[in-house]
Amino acid sequence: MKAAIVHSPRDLRIEEADVAAMGPGDVKIRIRAGGICGSDLHYFLHGGFGTVRIQQPMILGHEASGEILETGAAVTQVRPGDRVAVNPSLACGHCRYCLEGKANHCLDMRFNGSAMRMPHMQGLFREIVVCAEAQAVKVAPDVPLELVAFAEPLSVCLHASRQAGSLQGKRVLVTGVGPIGALCVLVARHAGAREVVATDVTDAPLAVARQIGADLALNTASDPKALDRFGADKGHFDVVFEASGAGPALAAALTAARPGATIVQVGIGNGEMSVPMNLVVAKEITLRGTFRFHEEFAAAVHFLSSGAIDVRPLLTEIVPLSDAVRAFELAADRSRAMKVQLAL
Ligand SMILES: [Zn+2]
Ligand SMILES: [Zn+2]
Repeated sequence: MKAAIVHSPRDLRIEEADVAAMGPGDVKIRIRAGGICGSDLHYFLHGGFGTVRIQQPMILGHEASGEILETGAAVTQVRPGDRVAVNPSLACGHCRYCLEGKANHCLDMRFNGSAMRMPHMQGLFREIVVCAEAQAVKVAPDVPLELVAFAEPLSVCLHASRQAGSLQGKRVLVTGVGPIGALCVLVARHAGAREVVATDVTDAPLAVARQIGADLALNTASDPKALDRFGADKGHFDVVFEASGAGPALAAALTAARPGATIVQVGIGNGEMSVPMNLVVAKEITLRGTFRFHEEFAAAVHFLSSGAIDVRPLLTEIVPLSDAVRAFELAADRSRAMKVQLAL
């Protein structure tokens, strides 16, 4: 079986890897589509992010879909031939957070394509994956597998929107429209937002934001005052999804948010952002974090399967696994790429 394995920054190789042995509760999946995510790019470009570093060769990827090849004796929910989205997160099920229903905070989380633990959790950019039955979520028979591979990032955005409560009739600002911000635009539209405004510092993703339903898409690099008008009378937006991880975007969002607004910090940038706390206090802003997802994965698969959330405008190009390095270079160029996928 072939896999895309990162050895060190800019050293990504397509190599042979072993297929793991199957337990009775496992399934074997022939992966077909894998989306390149920001964290994959960080491993590829810099060897990691924050304090997380690759310390051994690691298969990248955590956004994938495919077909069931084989099932263990105890598997009941899927069978060979089923098409599935792969949930990369496998919580332990018995730590204190799992028992509280906060499995995204699991103390023993196994998340595919992550160097957070040793040995690293190998990722999904490989032809064949063996995983727990619970990680294989069946999709509609006619939905293209490349669309289903959006289930993981869509789950992240559904979880983020949950932090803000109902978006019905709300005025929503999304700052930073990379794949996650763009999916937040789609989620806000789907959840009945009255108005969705997007900002970014690059034109290409803003064009996509317009295409997927943003009422207004503003370039805050070419026009630093683009959001100023929304600051009149103490602000305009009820909810902000800050998906850039950039301090100036959060500061502008705080100015444009109305008293009592909720700001969900989705992007993390380099992890250090200054917050104009005077605005948080004086406007009684609720500033919330959001981390991964849990039960939202099933909802994401449902919305993608039914077409209720249409991610097709986000898919820039599908590149063969053999050309993975080019795919990563393309994904790193925001002027050309939104979501790049590997075909496996
Ligand atoms: Zn991702
Ligand atoms: Zn746990």
